[in-house]
Amino acid sequence: MSQFIELGFSPDLLKGIQSLGFENPTPVQEQVIPEIFGNKNDLIGLAQTGTGKTAAFGLPLIEQVDLNQNTTQVLILAPTRELCIQIASDLEQYAHYFTGLKIVPVYGGASIESQLKALKKGAQIVVGTPGRTLDMIKRKAANIGNINTVVLDEADEMLNMGFREELDNILQTTPAGKRTLLFSATMSKEVARISKNYLKNPVKITIGKQNSGAENIRHIYYQVHARDRYYALKRVADINPDIYGLVFCRTRMETKEVADKLIKDGYNADALHGDLSQAQRDYVMNRFRNRTIQMLVATDVAARGLDVNDISHVINYNLPDELDIYTHRSGRTGRAEKSGISISLVNYHEVRKIAQIEKIIGKKCEKHPVPSGEEICQKQLFNLIDRMENATVDEEQIAPFMDTVNKKLEWLSKEEIIKHFVSLEFNRFLDYYKNAPDLNKKANSSRAKAEKVGSSGRNESRNVRGKKNSHESFTRFFINIGKKDGIAPKNIIGMINDNTHDRDINIGDIDIKDSFSFFETGESHTGKILKAFKKEQFQGRQLQVEVAEERKKGKKDKKEKRKKKRA
Ligand code: AMP
Repeated sequence: MSQFIELGFSPDLLKGIQSLGFENPTPVQEQVIPEIFGNKNDLIGLAQTGTGKTAAFGLPLIEQVDLNQNTTQVLILAPTRELCIQIASDLEQYAHYFTGLKIVPVYGGASIESQLKALKKGAQIVVGTPGRTLDMIKRKAANIGNINTVVLDEADEMLNMGFREELDNILQTTPAGKRTLLFSATMSKEVARISKNYLKNPVKITIGKQNSGAENIRHIYYQVHARDRYYALKRVADINPDIYGLVFCRTRMETKEVADKLIKDGYNADALHGDLSQAQRDYVMNRFRNRTIQMLVATDVAARGLDVNDISHVINYNLPDELDIYTHRSGRTGRAEKSGISISLVNYHEVRKIAQIEKIIGKKCEKHPVPSGEEICQKQLFNLIDRMENATVDEEQIAPFMDTVNKKLEWLSKEEIIKHFVSLEFNRFLDYYKNAPDLNKKANSSRAKAEKVGSSGRNESRNVRGKKNSHESFTRFFINIGKKDGIAPKNIIGMINDNTHDRDINIGDIDIKDSFSFFETGESHTGKILKAFKKEQFQGRQLQVEVAEERKKGKKDKKEKRKKKRA
């Protein structure tokens, strides 16, 4: 804590820092905080997410806000809605012991009215996505004419996502005398252009080697035939029973396919891609955050908003087209001082890209053989025994049953009992990997049929919420509950799940009004939805679900366009 005191924070901010459990500043904080406090220079910070850069700019900027002024003094731009919410909430936490500081996040995919209202009340700090921020400026709801600082967080991501025009527009309307702080994981050409056009004599701070993979990430690759990619993925998952991983695919279609196959094969997996509505995205992300989902299959764009610290493995099911993106993907693991593994599945033509990746990350990628069936069975067996050893035994609760259990097992020796218990869980793995082929052979034409069909020994999980058919039309329903009843989109999704018992229903937009709401589901499920809600009650009230009038076409088209832009 003493190092934070030395940086010059006020007692109230120090209390906030302490309550978050930060003991010492991270390297990026050590370098950036004195720069922000010390002079008025612009700054380029090349740092990955997970290095503590939000606090690096957030803490000193909070300290510098003039609380006597209600005008917007700091504008923070970030690429995704999730990151905006995260930054705003981090800042709120740092400033917990400050009175009078107003931080307002503005982002697309959410009601504009409440954000307009919040801005109207005044906000010294605005955190926004470029699109919604520009919208707010045009509506004269956000006034950035008096800001003293603009922060461009994850600038490379904002530019990758096509926000170049919005950034240019916003930056051109900021006062000439303001200071610009730009943070980026990579120094791409576009980031260099923005820096050249909008930053004046910036101080450059690089944390770690520029464009490098974090130190605590191991980079491993498996070389397989393209057709064996999925089987290799399963083996990676099976040899890591506690995997908590992000699987990156190149397209939405591939994302859906891989996730569907994993689910069918009994893995706790789901897909995150641009075809999902915001409510579905939130639902999937929450299930990943609370670890209901062990493997999340995602496109690069869709995964951008995901902020999870404990990811154990990043798996490149396919290498990204732009190899720079590899750094972003692998930077999802090994965060907050933890170690992580970035795995790439490459075919025989792609293997030359590994050398290019090594150049980008400044590190060697280790080539590992795809684990054999036998190795996987051994690992799974140890894991099972480990879990059995570590299971909590509640002596008191179990005692009344033990007599009967012992009597029933009397005919078995201790060795036999162990064998039976282990086999109960383990047979599925043994069966699946019996005669499993060696996926490392170059001319492997005889992939075992066992691996083509049937599932491995994973527990069954059928809770996917992906859209099976993205071209399916939607039916819009009216439901007679809304905000006043404490309803949020997740409650509607929950009700659809609970009342239909069908996890394959496509859910589209959910629009919560004051005393009623609208939701959309795949057209083919219209009858099922109407039937499922027919006799349902909510807080003692009869639920009323009806097919709503078609939304006006123009409005829907506009919305679709916006959706596409966001994705
Ligand atoms: P960020 O790079 O801003 O996304 O931060 C990554 C994680 O590190 C977040 O969970 C922060 O709460 C945490 N963090 C930031 N600064 C510190 C610090 N000085 N000590 C410990 N954890 C920190």
